[in-house]
Amino acid sequence: VTFAEYDLKSRNKAKIASDAEARRGNKTAARRKVSLSVIPPSRSLKERAQTAAIVAAAHAGAVDRDARFPQESFDALKRERLLGILIPTELGGEGASPTDLVEVCFTLGRACGSTAMIYAMHQIVVAALVRHAAPGSWHDELIRRIADEQLLMASSTTDGQGGGDLRKSECAVVDADTMKTLIKSATVMSYGAQADGVLTTARRTPDAPPTDQAAVALLKDDYRLTPLMSWDTLGMRGTCSSGFTLEARFPRQRILEPSYREINSRTVMPVAHLTWSAVWAGIAAGAVDRARAFVRAAARKSAGAMPPGAAHLTRASSSLLVLRGTITAALQAFEAVRDNAEALEAIDLQARLNLHKVTASELAVSIVMSALQACGLAGYRNDGEFTIGRNLRDVLSSTVMINNDRILANVGQAALLSDFTRTLTN
Ligand SMILES: Cc1cc2nc3c(=O)[nH]c(=O)nc-3n(C[C@H](O)[C@H](O)[C@H](O)COP(=O)(O)OP(=O)(O)OC[C@H]3O[C@@H](n4cnc5c(N)ncnc54)[C@H](O)[C@@H]3O)c2cc1C
Repeated sequence: VTFAEYDLKSRNKAKIASDAEARRGNKTAARRKVSLSVIPPSRSLKERAQTAAIVAAAHAGAVDRDARFPQESFDALKRERLLGILIPTELGGEGASPTDLVEVCFTLGRACGSTAMIYAMHQIVVAALVRHAAPGSWHDELIRRIADEQLLMASSTTDGQGGGDLRKSECAVVDADTMKTLIKSATVMSYGAQADGVLTTARRTPDAPPTDQAAVALLKDDYRLTPLMSWDTLGMRGTCSSGFTLEARFPRQRILEPSYREINSRTVMPVAHLTWSAVWAGIAAGAVDRARAFVRAAARKSAGAMPPGAAHLTRASSSLLVLRGTITAALQAFEAVRDNAEALEAIDLQARLNLHKVTASELAVSIVMSALQACGLAGYRNDGEFTIGRNLRDVLSSTVMINNDRILANVGQAALLSDFTRTLTN
């Protein structure tokens, strides 16, 4: 019996016992039993991520072809209990660091871009909840449930025709009796149909300006989704980022206390840009893996002589190292101040993490392009073991996922005011 099988067996046993208690109406015992099922597996995070990545890689082609949710990958991620790793141990998680998280994103990105991006988006929501929920709040209970039940959380910031301007909302929270309501034209909402809940943004009141936003965490029972737009895209097809009308009715406790401005600048933006860049680096690394295999195979066939495209592999490998360095540096800058609100909101750090997204996306695209050049037609083909097609299509989403032009325009002001490179090494 492997560790994974052993862990799964004992967790299943605990789940069955918990369900039996729940059927008997004994809620406390049910919760205690189910928490037994969430004892973190004894294997390392790296091993568990690799196990899930093997499953993701096996299904990546079908997920991309059929533009379907990577169900098998998420079954594996849940089996490996990877959805709650960021959650502190006292709330049932593992207290993993942002560095641990980006490693998992990278490992998954190498196998299946859609799986990795969904995983990253879920973890951005978890990070926001963990860092901004008031102790003892309803959100604390939600965090526990994410760890216990491996709930999958989506995010809905895109509102109507507002594009990637997540600091503005059209929809508003409205008072209705003792409850609140909101109706949002969520024109892009990844895995909305599959998620167990969503973190969404809305103006605090119908009179509030678009930038006075609240963040509302909702569970599936709190809202209804009506399909608005399909998701037939070049890449990241498995993210199933369709559009929906989101209609929610919820108690006040679902609203996080801090403003979305604060949640975004301290957590959502940094964690998004770090995890996304790790996903794109993983996609790029996957393309480099294929290019290396192609060059090796070609060299074997011609008595060790390197094929003409080999120099592109060297360039891709070198750029991948640069990308790795860029991510590591941005990660260290964030980790160094992650509990210091003032430092997190400093103009230099905000600009740096925003520019990191632009640089990482451009580098990742160029790496995949170099890998394609190294493979030539074998890479351009959609069939065959050296195809780079899915990697290229997936990685092209990086420049539009919060459009680089928008970010550059926003950071422009900060670049005028600040010299980001007063020293060379820190
Ligand atoms: C794979 C994927 C998954 C996604 N998942 C989600 C999700 O789960 N939830 C969610 O809410 N959203 C999601 N989104 C949407 C995302 O958050 C943005 O809304 C979207 O990427 C913005 O795309 P855009 O380029 O059309 O919009 P915009 O940013 O509005 O840009 C539109 C055009 O205007 C240009 N432009 C914009 N601003 C400027 C400027 N200041 N200066 C010059 N030119 C400018 C851009 O170059 C572009 O050509 C997802 C997007 C992708 C690609």
